[in-house]
Amino acid sequence: MGTSWSVKLALPEAVRIASVLETVERQLGVVVEQMSGWLPSSDLSRFNRAPVGRWISLPAEFFAVLDHAVALAEETAGAFDPTLGNLVALWGFGPEPVSTLPPPQAVVTAALARSGWRRLELDRRNRRARKSAAISLDLSGIAKGFAVDLICDHLRELPLPGFLVEIGGELRGEGVKPDGLPWWVALEQPLSLGIDPHNDDTADIVALHHLAVATSGDYRRFFDSMGRRYCHTIDPRTGCSVTNGLAAVTVLHAGCMQADALATALSVLGAREGMAYARRHQVAARFISRGNSGFAEAMTPAFAAMLA
Ligand code: AMP
Ligand code: MG
Repeated sequence: MGTSWSVKLALPEAVRIASVLETVERQLGVVVEQMSGWLPSSDLSRFNRAPVGRWISLPAEFFAVLDHAVALAEETAGAFDPTLGNLVALWGFGPEPVSTLPPPQAVVTAALARSGWRRLELDRRNRRARKSAAISLDLSGIAKGFAVDLICDHLRELPLPGFLVEIGGELRGEGVKPDGLPWWVALEQPLSLGIDPHNDDTADIVALHHLAVATSGDYRRFFDSMGRRYCHTIDPRTGCSVTNGLAAVTVLHAGCMQADALATALSVLGAREGMAYARRHQVAARFISRGNSGFAEAMTPAFAAMLA
């Protein structure tokens, strides 16, 4: 799904590293086979190719992620939207290589008509979904976090006493290290912030003790054109790459899927509206904005309480 993963762990004598690897790769396989837009045979690709109006049965994990995504879409008035596949592809942030030019407005308008979570209907009892227009699902804003949670659930059963799972910059820590300490993590900073998290005591440090962290940023995937930056987060209201001055949003949450999806949602809402949403819902969130005189940082009380 266009990203990398890593796992850090304290390996007890009774557990072989090969079974750890096998566990991780099997669960990654589940997510890729169900939710990858990169794989033509995935359930997601199959749904995207299906005709408008036809009910499509979905596997349990896929349905759970889609269900959560739709609930968040409802809660954020559509800031988070799992049906933006056509727009994401149009802006060049899909499985194909990144483009270098923003698309013309008329093309964006046409793609907006083939997007929108209200054009997706879920049948929870029978675990199936159908679309009322030619929408295309894209779960890249939530699936990494889900995969982290899935891997954590299975590693715990091996059993492993402590581990740190990371996919594409989203992390979750469980248990403690052999020294009895939790996994301390320096939060991701936009590269241009000039903070080296390994070598700077101004970096924000947090203990990932049964806790996940996810960051959405305009420095992950983007292109620059005519002096403007276009990043991979799409504002579903306009169909355009967001330009709200946010460089990064970091969310802490017990579940990595929730953290991942919320970080994406808050990136769309922007510093002001996003902060209001996060405070209202007691989300632990940090916003880093680009200003005229450098970066500005703001965090919710819930976030501040979790820092070292
Ligand atoms: P993340 O790095 O978790 O914020 O995810 C970014 C990815 O999510 C993008 O590359 C798109 O594939 C997808 N995406 C973009 N905009 C949205 C949005 N408003 N809601 C949900 N997913 C989005
Ligand atoms: Mg996300």
